[in-house]
Amino acid sequence: VLILAIESSCDETAAAVVRNGREVLSNVISSQIDLHTLYGGVVPEIASRKHIERINQVIQEALKESNTTFADIDAIGVTYGPGLVGALLVGVAEAKALAFALNKPLVGVHHIEGHIAANFIEHKELEPPFFSLVVSGGHTHLVKVKDYGSYEIIGKTRDDAAGEAFDKVARAIGLGYPGGPKIDKVAKTGNPHAIQFPRAKVENAPYDFSFSGVKSAVLNYINQQQMKQEEILVPDVAASFQKAVVDVLVEHALRGAKDFHMDSIAVAGGVASNSLLRDEMKRACEEAGMKLYYPSPVYCTDNAAMIGVAAYYEYINGRRSGWDLNAVPNLRLGER
Ligand code: ATP
Ligand code: MG
Ligand code: FE
Repeated sequence: VLILAIESSCDETAAAVVRNGREVLSNVISSQIDLHTLYGGVVPEIASRKHIERINQVIQEALKESNTTFADIDAIGVTYGPGLVGALLVGVAEAKALAFALNKPLVGVHHIEGHIAANFIEHKELEPPFFSLVVSGGHTHLVKVKDYGSYEIIGKTRDDAAGEAFDKVARAIGLGYPGGPKIDKVAKTGNPHAIQFPRAKVENAPYDFSFSGVKSAVLNYINQQQMKQEEILVPDVAASFQKAVVDVLVEHALRGAKDFHMDSIAVAGGVASNSLLRDEMKRACEEAGMKLYYPSPVYCTDNAAMIGVAAYYEYINGRRSGWDLNAVPNLRLGER
């Protein structure tokens, strides 16, 4: 089964061809990062416009790279939420037009299910049930993956997402957008124990997260240093902040997996490429006898291959979207 997948939920215009849910024949990503860097974050209007300009060519490239034509494709998969409504609409309209014109089935995919499904690409042995730590730009979830296409949210963030906290702190310490990879890099030269930032817990909710506190603590620290006219050591701030976030993510993920009797954890989303998170998860999972999975960096951040994988499992389970498929900006996991 060949799926042509389209992803346009944020600032990546992406298309991919995936065979039988596990083999990526092509994965084309046109990033708009340089366009949005100017504004310090994604500008929705610009994102939509660029998706429109680029989407046809990205799809053509995905077909060409995979040595396939539209005739070979069995179904069209597309992200329909969550994300920026104007950005999502471009992919959804394109997918509907293609599916209608080519007379192929249409499969709407949840973006976060795609992030989780990215783990299936390189880990052929990974199969549900397993536990997942989803850490992306807009989401921080602990998820029980009960079966393909069947999810239960065990915990989530009460305020900022992990990636969002990375991006905001990076901006505050002058590293610019997108902040996650920059903090990751500069933290390597800093001392993670230099500054004690809080590890927030949510009362009576052992699986939930809160990252607005640690973000404010960093901002307060910077203000105080400036008032005292003392130096701000960016690598130390980055390393200490990163350690505070990673400590909480690792602790919660391991606790959740154990409490729900899971023997493997799959990390997903853009922050899954963070090197400290990977190292600390490895250490903790080895200690706990837990199997650990995470995708290569290119499959952690937004891409269409992961959407093709998720679409495949929907497709073989007989799920189809109608011509009324619409963009759903705040679509919840497990919702259809
Ligand atoms: P969502 O998937 O929740 O809709 P998104 O699609 O914008 O949001 P992703 O593409 O999954 O998010 O991930 C982007 C996020 O990952 C950004 O916040 C970015 O800073 C963060 N990120 C990327 N690489 C790293 C890294 N090495 N360390 C920490 N954060 C990172
Ligand atoms: Mg992006
Ligand atoms: Fe994403």
